[in-house]
Amino acid sequence: MGSVRVSLCTLTRFFRGKLRICCKRPENVTAFSYDRRLMVSVPTAFSDRLNPAEPSPTTKLPLEPGEATAPSPEAGEPLANLSPSRASDFKTCPRLYKFRHIQKIPSVPTPAQARGTAIHLALERLFDLPATDRHPDQLLALLEGAWEETLDSDEYQEIFAGDSDGQDKYLRASRKVAERYFQVEDPREIEPVEREKLITLLIADDSKRDDRGPLEVRGIIDRLDSGPDGGLVITDYKTGKAPPLRFADSSFFALKVYALMVGEEAGRTPAYIRLLYLGNSEAYSLAVSEGQLRGVKRQLLALRRAIDRAITTDIFPPRKSRLCDWCSYQPICPAWADPPATGQSPTDSK
Ligand code: SF4
Repeated sequence: MGSVRVSLCTLTRFFRGKLRICCKRPENVTAFSYDRRLMVSVPTAFSDRLNPAEPSPTTKLPLEPGEATAPSPEAGEPLANLSPSRASDFKTCPRLYKFRHIQKIPSVPTPAQARGTAIHLALERLFDLPATDRHPDQLLALLEGAWEETLDSDEYQEIFAGDSDGQDKYLRASRKVAERYFQVEDPREIEPVEREKLITLLIADDSKRDDRGPLEVRGIIDRLDSGPDGGLVITDYKTGKAPPLRFADSSFFALKVYALMVGEEAGRTPAYIRLLYLGNSEAYSLAVSEGQLRGVKRQLLALRRAIDRAITTDIFPPRKSRLCDWCSYQPICPAWADPPATGQSPTDSK
């Protein structure tokens, strides 16, 4: 991976993304609850943030149908940077990518997203405390503050407008999610190397297939720990429920990208990537290998070529899946429009 250049950037919180979950049998994925062997000591630094929350339920978009055809602000521009969540979006559904990242159509924030943001904030602050103070009561107290802060933010202040019952319901649900966290790991035994850290990575295309410059990849890791044997462990929190294990492989894509970045920065391949699903207290763990990370690098470069092609041709086919049920863009998605009279498949449209 000698062609990869990495730099660590300052901590940010605004880098939000969504990891989408798809299909395929996973390799070397294991599910476990509360694996103490992976979590112990610590030395130096890292961290990033992937997803503040599970996919949100379908919501109504604040736009008229005509707005969905607004011209792409990036048409003709080669893709210079990519985040793991953007890459995941394109892999999941090119049309979703166009709605979200080309047309930049805003989706209405949802209570589930607010809950995810508050939980992430509370967990981040839990690790500011001395290890012996990291009890469930402390996390619940931190959650109350994080919940208030989240609802006061510009992004979420309208979501419960006039609906105090709904607000109470989500706060109660958030408390349950926080309590479940202690069923997947014991934070008193963990001293993170880094939390919520933005990492940037430049990937050069050794294949010389084109004259694009290096691809910049950047993202924020929830947490980086050092395992008992000194191996680096990247952990990502999910506030939703775990998908069946056989569907988990795709869920790890963004974490593999982080493993690539962390590996380059640290000069060694991380040992594991972990997804903690707090919705049902499930933890999935995947061992990382050098070969796997080389494949991720190739995948990222291939994705850039595919995205550039889609931008140039303005062809972003919708890809229907069970994730459509959580897609904010379903009301304007051609794949969910009434069948055309001519018999043309909606998935044939751009
Ligand atoms: S509704 Fe489904 S097919 Fe349409 S943009 Fe969303 S994920 Fe893609």
